Amino acid sequence: MKRLVLMGAGHAHLIVLKQWLSAPLKDVELVLVTPSAWQYYSGMLPGGVAGHYSVDQCRIDARSLALAAGARVVLGSVIEVRADKKQVRLTDGDLLDYDWLSIDIGATTNLESLRGYAGTLLSIKPLGQFHQQWSRHHERSGAKGAHIALVGGGAAGAELAMAVAHAGRAGATAPAKVSLITGNQGLLPDFRPRIRKLAHNKLAALGIEVVEQRAEAAGHDLVLTDGVTMRPDLVMAATGSEAFSFLATSGLAVDAQGFVLVNEHQQSLSHPEVFAAGDVCSRLDQSLNRSGVHAVRTAPVLAANLRAATESGEFTAFQPRTNTLYLLSCGDKTAIGSYGPFAFSGQWVWRLKDKIDRRFVGGF
Ligand SMILES: Cc1cc2nc3c(=O)[nH]c(=O)nc-3n(C[C@H](O)[C@H](O)[C@H](O)COP(=O)(O)OP(=O)(O)OC[C@H]3O[C@@H](n4cnc5c(N)ncnc54)[C@H](O)[C@@H]3O)c2cc1C
Repeated sequence: MKRLVLMGAGHAHLIVLKQWLSAPLKDVELVLVTPSAWQYYSGMLPGGVAGHYSVDQCRIDARSLALAAGARVVLGSVIEVRADKKQVRLTDGDLLDYDWLSIDIGATTNLESLRGYAGTLLSIKPLGQFHQQWSRHHERSGAKGAHIALVGGGAAGAELAMAVAHAGRAGATAPAKVSLITGNQGLLPDFRPRIRKLAHNKLAALGIEVVEQRAEAAGHDLVLTDGVTMRPDLVMAATGSEAFSFLATSGLAVDAQGFVLVNEHQQSLSHPEVFAAGDVCSRLDQSLNRSGVHAVRTAPVLAANLRAATESGEFTAFQPRTNTLYLLSCGDKTAIGSYGPFAFSGQWVWRLKDKIDRRFVGGF
């Protein structure tokens, strides 16, 4: 029997597996390789940090879903892809042959500026590990009034800074200080000015210090662009995405940053039996944000094309939408939203986000 290996239980693969519950692939051995039985849902992570969700509410049981969809589940990570030999190597050294491979492993955090930091550093990814480390830190030192620095001025950094500030307020003692160090491009550089203004106002209202400079690690200090140093008790890194390094030596066509190049069918530009979706891939003809929303939207196309590949059918093209709804939670059960040129904020935006997120996770 021919074999399809699903590498990673990212957003797209979860939906693919869900679709195949009712209409499984014919005559194909399906294997899911995932480092954990659980997939953490990033959209609810800031709400989890703020104390609005339990850990169980923010994660999906990927292992049970895959088993129900008829897959064999291998708990481990792929550490090497040998595209020319149609093989992947797993953490335990085993080689797994495939006829088709679908990659949805997301990306890792770009820690370049924080490399060598000697203090306590929590990297936002992997999300499951971050969740555990944050919970431990919060239980241990939440009452001590620590200075927490969030490095990264994108949506994840801003949401987490607000969540951390709220978690402190809700607990026994607020953190002494929360700093958001955005990098030289400033806060939310990929968003429209109106959203940036709403976010600046909210961060100020929550007492969060916004430092629009780059931070470099030096021992236990962070050195800012202007040469001033900061010594926080805890640094959290939400410093943007970086491709997993083993992809560059996989033999697959990758872009200049090492992300897998795919066409409109989510199919590798170099190896037609390989597909990819979500943060791990890039398209030459479109510049797409790395976001969960995008990974979710590609999933039906990925499912259809994996079926087409295994059953010799026609491929479907993925057409990204022009506008996407972005919702940033602000820690205190309010949120800021944007859709195309429109920007809005308030408690109703949080309720909308909460409803969308709960429905997504509940759907599994
Ligand atoms: C705090 C935070 C909040 C966010 N909020 C939002 C939001 O509100 N809306 C939004 O659209 N986006 C949001 N994002 C971005 C979003 O998380 C990512 O774009 C999204 O998770 C990408 O999905 P994916 O399917 O590509 O991969 P992921 O969801 O990252 O899943 C990849 C999976 O592959 C596994 N894996 C990794 N390496 C391997 C390997 N070598 N072998 C096997 N498995 C592997 C991982 O463990 C993981 O389970 C947020 C990100 C963060 C950090």
